[in-house]
Amino acid sequence: MTKDIQVTTGVVGLGAMGLPMAKTLAGKGFAVVGFDLDEGRRAEAARAGITIVDSPLAVFRAAEVVVFSLPAAQHVLSVIEASGLLDSDLSRRVVIDTSTSEPAVSRQIAADLAARGHGFLDAPVSGGPAGAGSGNLSFMIGGDEADFVAAQDQLTAMGAKVLHVGASGAGNVTKLVNNMLVACHMLTTAEGLRLAEAAGVNAGDALRVVNAASGRSMLSEVHFPNWVMSGNFNSGFSSGLMRKDLRLALELAAQNGADLPIADLARVLWSPEVSGVADADDFTRLGDPAHRPNSVEKV
Ligand code: NAD
Repeated sequence: MTKDIQVTTGVVGLGAMGLPMAKTLAGKGFAVVGFDLDEGRRAEAARAGITIVDSPLAVFRAAEVVVFSLPAAQHVLSVIEASGLLDSDLSRRVVIDTSTSEPAVSRQIAADLAARGHGFLDAPVSGGPAGAGSGNLSFMIGGDEADFVAAQDQLTAMGAKVLHVGASGAGNVTKLVNNMLVACHMLTTAEGLRLAEAAGVNAGDALRVVNAASGRSMLSEVHFPNWVMSGNFNSGFSSGLMRKDLRLALELAAQNGADLPIADLARVLWSPEVSGVADADDFTRLGDPAHRPNSVEKV
């Protein structure tokens, strides 16, 4: 549904996720104002019809609701700082932070902004660049109900499933749980196919059966057919970001006294040394038979 009156929405971070989100918002009738540190990303966004401004503060000046799509918590902190929002006299602004960030950082930023009358939602997403481009992301959100309501129009424009999980930080916690499972499903699905082939059943045939049975996951249903078995390895999510998420999940576990032996092993199997997959490679490379980790003894 397109909007009758154009509402200006900001997007800071116009990368693999941020740019398709900005395009989706523009396609649904929002006037979109964006900023990215990278000149190439700014140029690509401008070609897509996004109005590019020269700083995070200029984004906040133009828009009451601002979407962040940044690599990690330190980038979110640096944009908040660079924006000067905490020291500005701008009226109420609401940030929808879709970055896979850290709960403690989100809680601190939310408290600092709330003290100045602004809102902050930790709102990480699942669905990749394809979901961002089609408005079919799943959002898992932490934050105040009033901020959630204020961001409704933008959230429902970008997401097919918008789940308010709880207080500030709850979105980040659930995203780390989700991505820890993604990292493990990549390894276990690859191992299942290796077993099938070793025992004389073609991997494609085995995958078809798994996807009609109880061993399936989104990895087996979407990622393996589209990006692993096809040999394309271009899902748009990097191995470096996957490793970051696994590391953050394990740090969260350590902070909260949760014992996660399978995720501990997954971190080793995902490491560049064991997998031979570089940070810049697509994360689906880990399903490639050439890279599937061999054995725990090798670790
Ligand atoms: P990306 O590296 O493609 O994009 C990040 C963008 O942020 C880059 O264009 C970079 O130049 C920009 N940036 C960095 N610091 C900045 C700053 N201080 N000010 C302005 N711009 C800055 O990463 P991505 O794949 O788009 O992922 C973004 C976030 O979404 C990450 O936290 C990632 O874990 C998460 N995520 C990614 C996917 C995926 O499939 N790619 C899926 C779900 C969630």
